[in-house]
Amino acid sequence: MAVLVTGGAGYIGSHMVLDLLDAGETVVVLDDLSTGFRGAVPAGVTLIEGDFGDEALVTRLVEQHGIDAIAHFAAKIVVPESVSDPLGYYLNNTAKARNLIAVAVATGVRHFIFSSTAAVYGNVGSDAVSEDTPLAPVSPYGRSKLMVEWMLADTAVAHDLRYVVLRYFNVAGADPQGRAGQSTRDATHLIKVAVQAALGRRAGLNIFGNDYPTPDGTCLRDYIQVSDLVRAHIDALRYLRAGGEPLTCNCGYAKGFSVREVVDVVKTVSGVDFPVTMSPRRPGDPAAIVARNDLVRERLGWQPQHDDLHAIVAQALAWERRLHNQEP
Ligand code: UDP
Repeated sequence: MAVLVTGGAGYIGSHMVLDLLDAGETVVVLDDLSTGFRGAVPAGVTLIEGDFGDEALVTRLVEQHGIDAIAHFAAKIVVPESVSDPLGYYLNNTAKARNLIAVAVATGVRHFIFSSTAAVYGNVGSDAVSEDTPLAPVSPYGRSKLMVEWMLADTAVAHDLRYVVLRYFNVAGADPQGRAGQSTRDATHLIKVAVQAALGRRAGLNIFGNDYPTPDGTCLRDYIQVSDLVRAHIDALRYLRAGGEPLTCNCGYAKGFSVREVVDVVKTVSGVDFPVTMSPRRPGDPAAIVARNDLVRERLGWQPQHDDLHAIVAQALAWERRLHNQEP
């Protein structure tokens, strides 16, 4: 038995690999290294540099390694980029995912864990969203992921495939033991950008829009610590192997922070008052998106352990310092 982790050299995937190894699993990583890093994959783990949409390659991997579960992390994930390059997103996130699911069906891999996103909900207002909230994504990114959710649901009806879809809210922070973190080049995500500004690696930070219908006018998001998020995948794997039915769950803390609040926490934790500029809204951004997380707790037994924005920011800062060899 082995788990195939697509995107295992990336930010979230590399944390997943560590937790799988900690759980005693055999892991095979498939990553094209377009945004991931060879060095993010621990020694001793098989890393195949390749395309998860390549059916012949994935078929070979499944057969060679006795894979019984696929955790599919590899994707393009930048909302504004999806607005300017929708077809790139539909190819990578949707069309290639179809190939991966087809290989799972053809080779008899029965367990599939899919990284989806809160962006499938679209503009929902400031009330926390449950999984049965109507889906109305406002970006090609959200739609590219939602189509995969639909493919999985249809495939599970027609074939012997069971899946867990995890809808990620805003993932942040780093492995508390310092073994992994977010190394993405040209990162656009708020906490990463803010810690880079605090460390002087960017001139400052732009807040995209302060005229949203939220308490302070900036967007509200639910920031989930990366190891807590990965824990939900480990729970999902156990659930699927125990015969669990297809399931779609939100992954978030059910708490919203505004962009301004996040920036203030980064300033407090870093002790640096970096420059902040107000800018126009960014295309594709919903005003607010906060999770209800009853389902993941009840059905997968998920119990978060790192629900603390200050600690999340401290982890992100520690990793950023380490990336640049400035650890004291
Ligand atoms: N954001 C910002 N400045 C930045 C990066 C992000 O104001 O440099 C805002 C962004 O407009 C959104 C929130 O922070 O309202 C979270 O954005 P991020 O890109 O981190 O994640 P997303 O919610 O788009 O997945």
